[in-house]
Amino acid sequence: MGAHTSISGGFETSIKQAKYLQCHAIQIFSKNQMRWSAPEIDNKTAENFIEKRKRGEIEYLMIHDSYLINLGNPDEKKRERALIAFADEIRRAKQLGADYLVFHPGSHLGIGDDRCLELISESLKKSISIEDPKTGDLMILLETTAGQGTNVGYKFEHLAKIMELVGDSSLGVCVDTCHIFAAGYDIRDKKSYEDTIASFDDIIGLKLLKAFHINDSKTGFASRVDRHANIGKGFIGIDAFRFLLNDDRLSSLPMVLETPGGISAYKSDLESLRALF
Ligand SMILES: [Zn+2]
Ligand SMILES: [Zn+2]
Repeated sequence: MGAHTSISGGFETSIKQAKYLQCHAIQIFSKNQMRWSAPEIDNKTAENFIEKRKRGEIEYLMIHDSYLINLGNPDEKKRERALIAFADEIRRAKQLGADYLVFHPGSHLGIGDDRCLELISESLKKSISIEDPKTGDLMILLETTAGQGTNVGYKFEHLAKIMELVGDSSLGVCVDTCHIFAAGYDIRDKKSYEDTIASFDDIIGLKLLKAFHINDSKTGFASRVDRHANIGKGFIGIDAFRFLLNDDRLSSLPMVLETPGGISAYKSDLESLRALF
C-alpha cells in the first residue's frame, strides 16, 4: 500500500514521504511530467536513490510517464517524438531500479479507437526496440483510463488488443479504480465488483494485472470524466475498497493512492484503507 509521492527537491523526497506514510509501494514521476525533456539522472543520484529505497523497505517502485506522451498521436512527427520520449522513460525507470512504468495508452484525436490502438502498438514496439525494459527487469503497465475526451483504454478490450499486437512479455496492466468506474465498470456492490473482476479476467487475464491506483471518483458512474476523490468521499464509496483489499486474488498487488489534498490527505486515506482489512 502506498501513494504517488513527490520528487520535488530530489528523488529522496519520495522516500521521506514514503517513510512518513509507512508505504511499502510508491509511484513517482522520473521528471517534470509536463515537460518533454529533463536533465540526465547521473549514476550517483540513481545509486543513492536505489540504496535509500532499499533501506526504506519500499517493495514496489512504480514510475508514471509524462502526461505529454501520446503514443497513438495520428500526426507522424508528434508520434515519433512521443515514442522517443517513451523510450527515454523506460531508460530512466531502469536506471532508478523501478519495477513498473505506468502509462496511459493514448488519445485518438479524431481517427477513432481502433486505428489509435494500432498506432499505439507500433509506437510501443519501437520504444521497446530502442530501450528494452527486460534488461532492467522492468514491466510496462498500460493504465485503464476513464475515456475522457478521445482517450482510448477505457475498455479492457483496448488493453488486450494492444498487448496482443505488441506481443511482448514485458507488458501488464495497472487498474485505476476511479478510471474504470468512470469508464462504466461498476464496483460499488459485491455483485458488480465480482462481475468487473471476472470481466477483466476473461478479456485480459488476472495474471497480467500487476498494480492498482486506488482513487475514489468525483464524478458519477460511466461519466467518462477523470476526477480523483479521496477514499470514501466520492461516487464509488468505501465498500468497493473493502472488497478489493480483502480479495485474496489481488490484495498482495501494489496499490498506490493518487488522491487530492497532499500528504495529510494521503495519511487519512491510508488510514481509511488500512481499517478495511
Ligand atoms: Zn495515470
Ligand atoms: Zn491513475
